[in-house]
Amino acid sequence: MRIANLDGRLVLVAGDRAVDVATASDGRFEADPQRIYERWAEFRSWVESSADLPGESFDAAALGSPAPRPAQVFAIGLNYAEHAAEAGFATPDTAPPVFTKFPSCITGPYGEVALPAGGHTDWEVELVAVIGRRAERVPAPQAWSYVAGVTVGQDLSERVSQLAGPAPQFSLAKSFPRFGPMGPWLVTPDEFADPDDLELSCSVNGEVVQSGRTSRLLFGVPAIIAHLSAVLPLLPGDVVFTGTPPGVGMGRTPPRYLVPGDELVSTVAGIGELRHTFVADAHAGAEQD
Ligand code: ZN
Repeated sequence: MRIANLDGRLVLVAGDRAVDVATASDGRFEADPQRIYERWAEFRSWVESSADLPGESFDAAALGSPAPRPAQVFAIGLNYAEHAAEAGFATPDTAPPVFTKFPSCITGPYGEVALPAGGHTDWEVELVAVIGRRAERVPAPQAWSYVAGVTVGQDLSERVSQLAGPAPQFSLAKSFPRFGPMGPWLVTPDEFADPDDLELSCSVNGEVVQSGRTSRLLFGVPAIIAHLSAVLPLLPGDVVFTGTPPGVGMGRTPPRYLVPGDELVSTVAGIGELRHTFVADAHAGAEQD
């Protein structure tokens, strides 16, 4: 099953058609995509018992994040060994670094992103999991049953402010406006032969810069959920960025960062792709004056 946020309304996606959930359910489920995770099991049962829902063609440009306003956003750092090495950090052994992307940075699968003036903005394609029921002290073998689905994410990162000061500033430097693209839709885990082995990649202007598989995660989705839920409850609709494979701009010789006009395409096989174009910060000229 695939769900999406079409112009702010929850839809089921089947091929090139979308079913408006509030309309098709006669108002049983509301239109707000974020609210569906609070009733995820009931919603799935309704979908499974509803045959031949009438869908309509839709404009993909109107897609937003399938979880537009999560209460909590978790992001995992250094979760692929080769990426930890290129970033110049030790590989985490017992627990991965955890930070947040503040929820105001979440945006949809397509569009423009402004590059912060004076910054070095870098790409990080990631598998993103969205929580489908409250998770507290969940053992890893049961963890996938707490996941509503997965989607493609970009953990856009401004490296100058991330690495300035005595300790890295992950959360703030990764939360500039539109630095948390997600989409194009949420896919339930049962759609994959193995949800722990998904291929992900990203390209800049058509050149592949990152490629990897989630089977190479040091802490996979089940281990992440077990680790986080041992500390605090994960809530329906919460978002987890799982970490990025090697190939980020910071790890290149010389380093490479996004410049105005660059197009970044981020892909997870079996889900879809994000497509973003970068523009100069509209305030850049004013700040330099
Ligand atoms: Zn990341």
